[in-house]
Amino acid sequence: MIEGGCLCGSVRYEADAEPIVMRACWCRLCQYVAAGNATINIAFPTNAVAVTGQMTDYVSTADSGNKMHRRFCPSCGTHLFSEAEERPHLIIVRAGTLDDPNLVTPQRTIWASHAPAWAHIDPDIERFEGQPPPDI
Ligand SMILES: [Zn+2]
Ligand SMILES: [Zn+2]
Repeated sequence: MIEGGCLCGSVRYEADAEPIVMRACWCRLCQYVAAGNATINIAFPTNAVAVTGQMTDYVSTADSGNKMHRRFCPSCGTHLFSEAEERPHLIIVRAGTLDDPNLVTPQRTIWASHAPAWAHIDPDIERFEGQPPPDI
């Protein structure tokens, strides 16, 4: 069982499955969410993640063209999840919310072409300049 939650503890979740993929995303929107850096994201099967607590859902259209729901805690502002309407079988968990952030390691970088000039991008993992093909 992989567990996590927001900074203030109002939102908690449990994932009862292995992560499908873990990625660092440098799209422009993620730079807002991650306060300047890439977001670090873990994909799980949606039906394997149980969530308790209230969240605010911000809906926008991503650089990929997908209509995205980004959910965050209204008390502390921590971003926890994103989901694409086109891919409802996947839930993306923000790695900073894991109780143990060492559980997973990024396997690829996506939207590298949107990263600022100072960004450090791991040269040892797979790199995509934009949206990669779906993993599942
Ligand atoms: Zn919170
Ligand atoms: Zn992104």
